[in-house]
Amino acid sequence: MANEEEPKNHVFGIKDLSHKTLLQSDALYQYILDTSVYPREHECLKELREMTEKHPRNLMATPPDEGQLLSMLIKLINAKNTLEIGVYTGYSLLSTALALPPDGKILALDVNREYYELGLPIIEKAGVAHKIDFKEGPALPFLDELLKDENKKGTFDFVFVDADKNNYLNYHKRVIDLVKVGGLIGYDNTLWAGSVAASPDAPFMDYIKPLRGYVMELNKYLAQDSRIEICQLPVGDGITLCRRII
Ligand code: SAM
Ligand code: CA
Repeated sequence: MANEEEPKNHVFGIKDLSHKTLLQSDALYQYILDTSVYPREHECLKELREMTEKHPRNLMATPPDEGQLLSMLIKLINAKNTLEIGVYTGYSLLSTALALPPDGKILALDVNREYYELGLPIIEKAGVAHKIDFKEGPALPFLDELLKDENKKGTFDFVFVDADKNNYLNYHKRVIDLVKVGGLIGYDNTLWAGSVAASPDAPFMDYIKPLRGYVMELNKYLAQDSRIEICQLPVGDGITLCRRII
């Protein structure tokens, strides 16, 4: 099954960040970055971002304006206990760790520890590695294990889902019971390069097409799920915020 791991930088032949947004004007996106994002970006986030830009799979990284959004949300809801599914080199993870209070915790899941270890020295340098509990392996069985423990249900203030798109609905079915009432889930890439609103035979990159249906299915499901309030933002590749209400 194809997943978001597939795109390689050389396929796109770009180094700039214009592919990180659905904004139609690269100049406007650059303005946002230059004016409001980069001047406020923590030096370790900058270092991690620049290190990741050299990685062949850098397309997977969370863009810095979205990292800023995650940080703001985490602080607004006073999150302390968070879950992240899909770490890669850790841009969203470090954004989260920096936003959490000193005793905040992140349970971070990824099938690939090597990616995480690329960013780990920078996370350590930022002084927030103690907040992170990284578990290597497929997230679904791990979540199923967590759910066997009644004490873990309803305990997370914030969950960021940014892994294999074909499993998003499966993640939702589990994560909804792990996040607390009043807590927030963010599903990333819910506009999937804009393909959700395009015809199925539109000329998108190969990795987009096989997953488009899964993202659309998730969006439809979230829109009718009475356990949550939702807000879909066109930040990055689209992020859907879900606030658990029952
Ligand atoms: N949030 C990251 C960031 O800020 O850079 C980007 C995550 S990247 C889009 C997706 C990640 O999900 C990859 O690191 C990949 O190894 C991981 N992944 C893919 N399938 C997975 C699975 N079944 N369980 C856990 N992680 C998975
Ligand atoms: Ca993403």
